[in-house]
Amino acid sequence: MIEYGHFIDGKHVKGASGRTADVFQPLDGSVRAKVALASKAELDAAVASAKAAQPAWAATNPQRRARVLSKFLELVARDNDELAELLAREHGKTLPDAKGDIQRGVEVVEFMLGVPHLMKGEYTEGAGPGIDLYSMRQPLGVVAGITPFNFPAMIPMWKFAPAIACGNAFILKPSERDPGVPMRLAELMIEAGLPAGILNVVNGDKESVDAILDHDDISAIGFVGSSSIAQYIYSRGCANGKRVQCFGGAKNHMIIMPDADMDQTVDALVGAGYGAAGERCMAVSVAVPVGKATADKLMEKLIPRVESLKIGPSTDPSADFGPLVTKQALERVRGYVDLGVEEGAKLVVDGRGFKMQGYEDGFYLGGCLFDDVTPNMRIYKEEIFGPVLSVVRAHDFEEAVRLPSEHEYGNGVAIFTRDGDAAREFASRVNVGMVGINVPIPVPVSYYTFGGWKKSGFGDLNQYGPDAVRFYTKTKTVTSRWPSGVKEGAEFSMPLMK
Ligand code: NAD
Repeated sequence: MIEYGHFIDGKHVKGASGRTADVFQPLDGSVRAKVALASKAELDAAVASAKAAQPAWAATNPQRRARVLSKFLELVARDNDELAELLAREHGKTLPDAKGDIQRGVEVVEFMLGVPHLMKGEYTEGAGPGIDLYSMRQPLGVVAGITPFNFPAMIPMWKFAPAIACGNAFILKPSERDPGVPMRLAELMIEAGLPAGILNVVNGDKESVDAILDHDDISAIGFVGSSSIAQYIYSRGCANGKRVQCFGGAKNHMIIMPDADMDQTVDALVGAGYGAAGERCMAVSVAVPVGKATADKLMEKLIPRVESLKIGPSTDPSADFGPLVTKQALERVRGYVDLGVEEGAKLVVDGRGFKMQGYEDGFYLGGCLFDDVTPNMRIYKEEIFGPVLSVVRAHDFEEAVRLPSEHEYGNGVAIFTRDGDAAREFASRVNVGMVGINVPIPVPVSYYTFGGWKKSGFGDLNQYGPDAVRFYTKTKTVTSRWPSGVKEGAEFSMPLMK
């Protein structure tokens, strides 16, 4: 049995709280590891280590900081297979998908290699007679990230790479469901030359999260997870005077216009709806065909595709998707399918009876497909986070714009069409943060930024890209005058740039 403690001050330390949680192997339902759940005292020790190490790291020039990230990229490439295997075993996603999880994190580390350029300030010569102004970006100090189970490589990297590149020390509180990969990433950062204390991993649950929220020496918190926890973390962190950004849940719609290429659309829809068993914040969970003819054509092609999805253990390279993360998640998603039936939606593909031969205790659910879902149903309003796709039939383009715009989540949305004008108008009007045009999962590349709107995001800056540099630094502006400006003596009126 693997035992995960914490990673503090450059080394593994055993948990001391006496509390642990089980880490499952979803492919067969076995308990793979025990993870320690930190007490406030253990969190305090991690913050003390980070606080002591941070000033020297901030004083290390940014090119040298970037070199550590560059070396880290080499090590992640070296250990890619091992990391993907570990990820797939703890999360349940397939090996190729686990590699994608790592890769989308790696791309943010690559972007942060440009930190010397990204942190450059501004300069104005001669803002007044003999007066020059310049601004600089300085790190915040000790910052923290609280991350979800569903991307245990990508999201920790989205958080720690920008923070550390900017000269901060980072406390990572990963999900207690799959802490193995975050722990390995911290080891690799140290192997890459990161000083001890700059990246500490504290495993835990609400107790450690609350300790982060209330700690005076933590200046900023980045959170990714479900919306109710995001809102809680945002309000308590802000009330404590911290800079906070929180990214929450989603209900991503895919609009299918009458002129869309139906084969391409169905391919995109099954991949984005059922990949990773629907456990992606950018998964498509609502398909919106426009017009009855479009809907009928869609269902005719979609139903057999959903019926023939290949579900398998994470180690099966030919599987389309694997098990859900825990038994609890499986029961929750199954409960939503039962609810959809009760609410009157038409369950046209029912995956509830699926059993994986040879892995009967794994957390598997077959693909489920609902037709005739309406906006008043809970299965439409709430995030299901499983391999369940709802089809909501729209009468026209206006209704198709309105549905995602009026939904309380606003993470991603996609439109499939051959009409540039419809696509352009949709992208401009829809009230959602990230839009795909014939792209089902529009996760922006690392030099843009990622962020949903409405209940999918709390705070004013997005994660990764240039916004991350703004989030993890503060701006200092210097107004300077040398030395003739002081010859005339004191000035008692409000200084003006005369
Ligand atoms: P979660 O909210 O259960 O957990 C996220 C983190 O919060 C974990 O580290 C967990 O330990 C901690 N946490 C859980 N309950 C807490 C509590 N009561 N008090 C304090 N901390 C608590 O989310 P999850 O199930 O791990 O992840 C799935 C969710 O994350 C989905 O809603 C998904 O849409 C969302 N997500 C969003 C994005 C995005 O960028 N918007 C990306 C990935 C996942």
